[in-house]
Amino acid sequence: MITVGQIYNYLDQIAPFDYQADWDNSGLQVGSYDDPVEKVLVALDVTPQIIQEAQDMGAQMIISHHPVLFHAVKRLEKESIPYQLAKAGIVSVACHTNLDTAPGGVNHCLASRLGLVDLQPLNWDTSRNFYKMTVFCPSDHTEKVYRAMTQAGAGTLGNYSGCAFTTPGEGRFICEEGSRPYIGEEGKEATAKEDRLEMLVPPERIKAVRAAMLVNHPYEQPAYDIVETSSVRRNTSFGLVGKLTFDALSPQRFAYYVKEQLKAPGVRFVPGNRDVSKVAVLGGGGDSSLHDAIRSGADAFVTGECKHHVLLQAADAGITFIDAGHFFTENVVVPALTDKLKKQFPEVEFKASQLISDPSQWM
Ligand SMILES: [Zn+2]
Repeated sequence: MITVGQIYNYLDQIAPFDYQADWDNSGLQVGSYDDPVEKVLVALDVTPQIIQEAQDMGAQMIISHHPVLFHAVKRLEKESIPYQLAKAGIVSVACHTNLDTAPGGVNHCLASRLGLVDLQPLNWDTSRNFYKMTVFCPSDHTEKVYRAMTQAGAGTLGNYSGCAFTTPGEGRFICEEGSRPYIGEEGKEATAKEDRLEMLVPPERIKAVRAAMLVNHPYEQPAYDIVETSSVRRNTSFGLVGKLTFDALSPQRFAYYVKEQLKAPGVRFVPGNRDVSKVAVLGGGGDSSLHDAIRSGADAFVTGECKHHVLLQAADAGITFIDAGHFFTENVVVPALTDKLKKQFPEVEFKASQLISDPSQWM
């Protein structure tokens, strides 16, 4: 029998939960990893109607994009979604910003639906910096510690891995009473040939790298420090930039094309000053990345929400700006994720929600 934990681990492979933004709460929301699963509903949101849909199909689990728990909960009201899920005995797992940035996630699905090719990152996640770990190793153990830290995820920088800097030197210390030194003797001063090993560590790997270093370092009391850098950011991108495979469209025709491709009832748009061939996308509430779209040289930016001053900025910059709705720019991921899950777990029934829809109406 497949368990929640097995499905969770697969989701973690295709859209690592460690890659979520630090303000996010992706992951297990309600329930237990041990619960057996036969049927799963996949939906953008969890609403009372979605819980009913899950119950009607006999699902034990709902996988949603938006989390049901975001802020600290001080009381569980009867009407609240987590309470209703728990009452119905339905496990909830959310794949939010980890699915935004993942290959095959929200933005890849959105780009694919719009027929974009030659995809490039639009922006880098600047919500969390890398750390730098510096550790002093006796030189006969530097290689071992370096390998262990690398394997745990240190030293990854863009398309490079195992990045490190080593400086040889001399360490000195006094082995106090009760010590069990690797070099030197209890009660005496000691010097040791050591290396200063420095490696960058992404924030989600810092605990694992520190643990790997400690396990492989021979000293009773390894000397090390960890500092947060301000220059190196995480290497995940929320949005994407790509090109249409056909002749450039006028801003109006492109807006209509987006509306048709996303099956949206309408789009709000600011026409730019040129035809559209290069397109930046960021599903959901992505209007604050307009400057990234402009910097990328895109002719148009497609996102799902927009504030008034961003519309003014777009008009000023001459870029075509399209607000196609939060729901329509993100829901594209639901069928794609459902198909992946079906292939991975043929013994489990996965269903993309048929009831979920944009709560707003157009007239
Ligand atoms: Zn969203």
